[in-house]
Amino acid sequence: DFLANKIAAGEVVERPASVVKELVENALDAGSRSIQVDVKEGGLSYIRINDDGQGIPSDECKNAFERHATSKIHSSRDLFRIETLGFRGEALPSIASVSSLTLRTSQGEGPGIELQIQGGAINNETTIGRSRGTEVIVENLFFNTPARLKYMKTIHTELGHISDCINRMAMAHPDVSFQLRHNDRVLLKTNGNGDLLQVVASIYGVSTAQHMIKIDASSLDFQVTGYIAKPEVTRSSRQYMSTFINERYVRHYGLNRAIHDGFHTLLPVGRHPVVVLHINMDPQLVDVNVHPSKLEVRLSKEKELVDTVSEAIKKALSREQL
Ligand code: ADP
Ligand code: MG
Repeated sequence: DFLANKIAAGEVVERPASVVKELVENALDAGSRSIQVDVKEGGLSYIRINDDGQGIPSDECKNAFERHATSKIHSSRDLFRIETLGFRGEALPSIASVSSLTLRTSQGEGPGIELQIQGGAINNETTIGRSRGTEVIVENLFFNTPARLKYMKTIHTELGHISDCINRMAMAHPDVSFQLRHNDRVLLKTNGNGDLLQVVASIYGVSTAQHMIKIDASSLDFQVTGYIAKPEVTRSSRQYMSTFINERYVRHYGLNRAIHDGFHTLLPVGRHPVVVLHINMDPQLVDVNVHPSKLEVRLSKEKELVDTVSEAIKKALSREQL
């Protein structure tokens, strides 16, 4: 249903970075080890995501563009322990309804398939050869929604959002290799060897990474790992605080507070630390079903988590005798 897809697109596809996020999440859900992202004009004219994941079976390709045709949720029970990044089955149909989209995919055995979709309508379907994986090209985003196009900021701003998105994905998944290029210039490249500190170095620079202290703590329900910069490397923005729950980037006021508390008096007023924190827990303890963008989460046992996090930071700082 074209109209329903376009309406859903208003929620799911706010800007080029939302397209990038949804497509990279799909690539991760498909078990990819290597993901390349190419964008032009801040993603407004061109976005390409290429992965080496499991691919889409030829006979399911068209289905992937039907609303709520997710392959990832099989029962209502699944909704309460979501382990994949996507689960609404809205991204592909929404994105396709407001762009020209090309999908190329192969499961590695037999021929692959290419679909061309214009404003949600499938125009062309051909058999192709390609290695295992999926490639999605999104051109002329919002060509048929001029009101949305009007709200786009400068290329610089849109690219900034895309870059933030890929940085977070790379920090969330040090074991996956990411590459981001804008107009053929490489902005980020990680090697996927699993070393979070190397990812941090490629994002924030080697000298910041050299000032990072390892965090590793756990309580009954939570495991907290990652890196914090020594208090002398503070920033005036919260932008450099990245928290991940079960590999998913989240923004959570209580968590940020807990991190600040861990620094106690070491953090000057109005300054924020550079932190990359991974929290792992039973997926049943976190509700990601709050908002389509899945950035905000609701936590059970928040008090225990907050205590674990600030203790983890205190412990790491005192180990360094700070
Ligand atoms: P969701 O991720 O919520 O399931 P999407 O609209 O994002 O919904 O994708 C629809 C379906 O298309 C997915 O459930 C998946 O089966 C398939 N798919 C999309 N992208 C990829 C990809 N890169 N690799 C393999 N399968 C994919
Ligand atoms: Mg998805």
